[in-house]
Amino acid sequence: MAGKPDSLKPETLAANALGWIDEKTGAIVPAIHPSTTFLRDADNSYDTTGRVYSRADNPTYDQVEALLNTLEGGQGALVFSSGMAAATALFMSLKPGDHVVAPSVMYWSLRNWLNDFARTWGLDVEFVQSADLDALAKAMRPGKTALVWLETPSNPLWDVTDIQAASDIAHKAGARLAVDSTSASPVITKPLAFGADYVMHAGTKYLNGHSDVIAGALVTAADDDHWNRVKSVRKNLGAVLGPFESWLLLRGMRTLYPRVRTASANALDIARYFEGHPGVAEVLYPGLQSHPQHEIALRQMTDGFGGMLSIRMSAGTAAAIAVAANTKVFTRATSLGGVESLIEHRASIEGADSPVPGDLLRLSVGIEAIEDLIGDLAQAIAVASRGA
Ligand SMILES: *Cc1c(COP(=O)(O)O)cnc(C)c1O
Repeated sequence: MAGKPDSLKPETLAANALGWIDEKTGAIVPAIHPSTTFLRDADNSYDTTGRVYSRADNPTYDQVEALLNTLEGGQGALVFSSGMAAATALFMSLKPGDHVVAPSVMYWSLRNWLNDFARTWGLDVEFVQSADLDALAKAMRPGKTALVWLETPSNPLWDVTDIQAASDIAHKAGARLAVDSTSASPVITKPLAFGADYVMHAGTKYLNGHSDVIAGALVTAADDDHWNRVKSVRKNLGAVLGPFESWLLLRGMRTLYPRVRTASANALDIARYFEGHPGVAEVLYPGLQSHPQHEIALRQMTDGFGGMLSIRMSAGTAAAIAVAANTKVFTRATSLGGVESLIEHRASIEGADSPVPGDLLRLSVGIEAIEDLIGDLAQAIAVASRGA
């Protein structure tokens, strides 16, 4: 299984999936291990393989976890059956009574889970505008706050939080910092390098990249007791990834860098083109100079600003829905991070208490030709404004 040296560039390590070679067969692509159980030694131990049962020990995880750990610069990685499973495992590794702080605008399903399940389970959940570092500092309760959760850039307004500053605030209060880095991916941001203790990914999105796997992952900065607790949550609550999905995730990650770079370049071109367009009131994208945290984005984001942006239509909610109804290259669907471009009216999927404005369309920009993407949006905006 000897692989490539870690000193190689991340895009090399990703393309070669760390260069692992199967020792038995010489295969350069790993096997899928559906086995649920593993041979026990004659002396009744499990010393030979160390593997007992697949809920904890599936060998198909090893390479994808090692690759993600290397790309994030971590001390351990775990794959999960979904992004939600990864995120909730981290919260479930805390103790009832612990105080946790999360962003007021963040990935909707996790916000709902925190508001509902996590509160009744006993976590003391507080939401703050976490890009506002003063508000974050005020929310800290030293000795009580166990975890600060960040999402940057955050769904679907794409606020950028200064991870280094947030981790200083969290650590000063004795709390750990976790970053949902799904929309950035390790290509664009490496939260552990800015002091975060954990990185979470919906592997469903950029890591896999092809809208055909639900998966999640956590990466840790320290292989400590708390990380063992997270491992035990995965094992005992059983939110494990299937071996086939794990294999697909690794395959998807081989092209992570060129996919994310192309999507980021396309997103920046779209953001620049439609900023100032008469049908568009505002473009929300960290790569624009007009973005309120553009300076932080320049420091913290590398290789572009990601493939996610939102546009707000001048003519309001009906115009936004009409644009989504009339695109032909952008597909009308939720989710993000695939090679194909998606468009979504977020407010209507999030429901009545959503903080998302009705005139907003969220775009997950793919890797198609930029002329086709800009042309498609322009014609849909033209059709929508004739109808309005
Ligand atoms: C999709 C997503 C999740 C949840 O991931 P699933 O794989 O759908 O469970 C969490 N955070 C963000 C930012 C996401 O986009």
